[in-house]
Amino acid sequence: NRRIVLAARPHGAPTAETFRLEETVIPTPATGQLLLRTIHLSLDPYMRGRMSDAPSYAPPVAVNEVMGAGTVARVVASFHSDYKVGDLVLSYSGWQDYSVSDGSGLIKLDSSLIKPSHALGVMGMPGFTAYVGLLDIGQPKAGETVVVAAATGAVGSLVGQIAKLKGCHVIGIAGGVEKCKYAVEELGFDVCLDHRSSDFPQQLKAACPKGIDVYFENVGGAVFDAVLPLLNLFARVPVCGLIANYNATELPKGPDRLALLARTVLTRSLKIQGFINSNYPERHDAFLREMSDWLKTGKIKYREEFVEGLENAPQAFIGLLEGKNFGKLIIDVAE
Ligand code: NDP
Repeated sequence: NRRIVLAARPHGAPTAETFRLEETVIPTPATGQLLLRTIHLSLDPYMRGRMSDAPSYAPPVAVNEVMGAGTVARVVASFHSDYKVGDLVLSYSGWQDYSVSDGSGLIKLDSSLIKPSHALGVMGMPGFTAYVGLLDIGQPKAGETVVVAAATGAVGSLVGQIAKLKGCHVIGIAGGVEKCKYAVEELGFDVCLDHRSSDFPQQLKAACPKGIDVYFENVGGAVFDAVLPLLNLFARVPVCGLIANYNATELPKGPDRLALLARTVLTRSLKIQGFINSNYPERHDAFLREMSDWLKTGKIKYREEFVEGLENAPQAFIGLLEGKNFGKLIIDVAE
């Protein structure tokens, strides 16, 4: 039984030394428990926050503790009346081969899923984040201009496609030519711009002749700086994530732009609202219903990037924070 623990809290970007692969015995389930074999392991940007002990909305992973993660797992032994050997479940069993559960927090996966891995992406936490953040907080209306960064990622790819389904003009922002081409040709975005281009702010301005009505914030940093002057009167900004800052060890160097931000919020009547997906449980059923319809009718497309082997999770996670993933990042742990 292999497991990956947090070896040390990273200062800045995580490195190979942040993690440690350990071998332990396969745990034995007791009465009322079951043994889970991890099949797919989800890697998500929030895990960077859990590695740090700075105050956040969720407690940090302790040093020497197994890294937490959502997984798709198979029941391989069961002393629990609700589960039988062979059942597939969505679990939060972390970066390890096997884990014991008493059933709490498990969700059985059924045949309504096109692929079990979808439970970690389009039909899971990232999908729900895109759905509730865009529709409830962004409130896009037909004809409006919606901008989303990390546009080919787990969340952003769905934000843009849902906005298109609502009749919006959609501008994606992504890292590199290949991702931008995919956003337009496969996902159906109207335009997609490379945030690494030196004239990215000018390109964004030219792509949004009517300004921006909804900016779905996934990254922060230089992308937000380019967006801010283009926000329209009554624009909405669902603040979903700030991945450009996750490895930062201090506030960015000046000048202090807080006064500029506050003035723009006031004079343009902006609505900027942060959100955490788990605070909207009442919207989950509607999400499952609509998203599964969209997927089955081909209205929504979804790209997954599978990396083989639990031992490769640290490197893949480091890459996620650098934009090396192309689509929802998943570790294939076992068949
Ligand atoms: P992605 O699959 O989009 O992967 C992360 C992507 O972020 C990278 O591929 C890269 O894309 C982009 N990125 C990384 N660094 C930078 C940078 N400095 N500037 C611009 N872009 C960068 O991840 P997710 O879809 O899972 O997550 C997207 C965001 O949503 C994250 O901020 C995450 O924390 C947040 N989130 C929030 C939730 C909530 O409940 N509030 C729940 C789930 C996710 P590229 O190469 O295109 O630049």
